[in-house]
Amino acid sequence: MVGHVVVIGAGVYGAAVAAGLASRGARVTVVEAGAPASGTSGATFSWTNSCGKQPRSYHDLGVAGMVAHQRLAARAPHSDWYHEGGNLEWAADADGVARLRRKVATVAEYGYAVRWLTRAEVLALEPDIDPAAVPADEIAYFPREGWVEPTRLVGHLLATALSRGARLLRDDAVVDLDMGPTAALRLTSGKRVTADAVVNCAGPHATRIAALAGLDLPMRNTLGVLIYTSPVPVSVARVVHAPNVHLRPDGGGRLLLHTHQVDAAARITGGRTRVDQDAVEVVLAAGRDLYPGLRDATVESVRVGERPIPADGLPVLGRVADMPNFHFAVSHSGTTLSVHAGDLVAAEVLGENQDDVLGPFRYERFLPALSAF
Ligand SMILES: Cc1cc2nc3c(=O)[nH]c(=O)nc-3n(C[C@H](O)[C@H](O)[C@H](O)COP(=O)(O)OP(=O)(O)OC[C@H]3O[C@@H](n4cnc5c(N)ncnc54)[C@H](O)[C@@H]3O)c2cc1C
Repeated sequence: MVGHVVVIGAGVYGAAVAAGLASRGARVTVVEAGAPASGTSGATFSWTNSCGKQPRSYHDLGVAGMVAHQRLAARAPHSDWYHEGGNLEWAADADGVARLRRKVATVAEYGYAVRWLTRAEVLALEPDIDPAAVPADEIAYFPREGWVEPTRLVGHLLATALSRGARLLRDDAVVDLDMGPTAALRLTSGKRVTADAVVNCAGPHATRIAALAGLDLPMRNTLGVLIYTSPVPVSVARVVHAPNVHLRPDGGGRLLLHTHQVDAAARITGGRTRVDQDAVEVVLAAGRDLYPGLRDATVESVRVGERPIPADGLPVLGRVADMPNFHFAVSHSGTTLSVHAGDLVAAEVLGENQDDVLGPFRYERFLPALSAF
């Protein structure tokens, strides 16, 4: 019987795990080094999708994550943080088209919703796109994909947990962890907390928390640059992946722009993160080429997020076999996965068997590789 659970981190994962635990009647303390959603969950493209995830078990987890968002939004009043407007994607050259055809064929075989559109059909969905920027056909449309406002999602999940008695200790980091039968945690403030179980939801810092517990979690995190425009009177209703820019609405008329190329413009020097402004302007120009109505848009802010990526790219979820009161809830694609995967982890903490779904994502898969060194 698990009495008290400490959840480390209050991003999308920590909030989802805490909500899942508290809703099942557990006593929960969430410890957050800063403010809730101040980590990666506050700087993410937050596109809900399961497009291109391999192997099949990862794809299925992503689809279940998308369904969990739909269900949560359907039962939560004022849940307008969830936007299921679909996603458009096309390619600029023959290699890109071949890759997109392969991806579409694979997900279609898995039963994932996708269809090919013509330029005219795209313009019916997105009338403000410059027709010259879109190919005549072979535009992939994924109608069940969308995006979430992660900060509001975290707010809702934490409120769910707190209204069921959970406690939030914020601006206080876990600095020491002794994983005996009862876990003992020490925080920056000097405060000491004991727990029957601990869940590591520290996102890109999950390796550090694992190390405090004596575990080695290999990760290969990367930085991502997100460009937020000023409010613009342009109609953008969904996620769009064009060859030179990815974008989506971001509320209040703002758009969020991203490309994988611009990620290279982020540098950490002397502990400070800087972004090359020329690279930012290139992405904004690509946005204007796609939506001419962006001509007056300016860059309102640029944020850099750190993707929490376990070394093999797959999520790390669930109980550690040799340390059954220590659990992981860490992954990339966390905005898509966390509502579902966080709830699975919470259920397992409280004794429900989740071997069927969490089996492929357990920490133990790293052990043979680690012992080779
Ligand atoms: C540029 C970019 C684009 C992305 N695009 C997408 C996308 O389109 N779709 C998608 O699904 N995912 C996307 N992701 C990934 C997704 O955003 C992350 O997987 C998700 O936000 C991770 O959430 P988290 O709760 O694990 O981590 P975080 O949000 O980082 O939360 C972890 C929390 O732990 C706290 N913490 C750390 N150490 C301690 C400690 N010692 N003590 C107490 N607290 C601690 C931190 O302060 C932080 O608040 C993207 C990420 C980036 C950076």
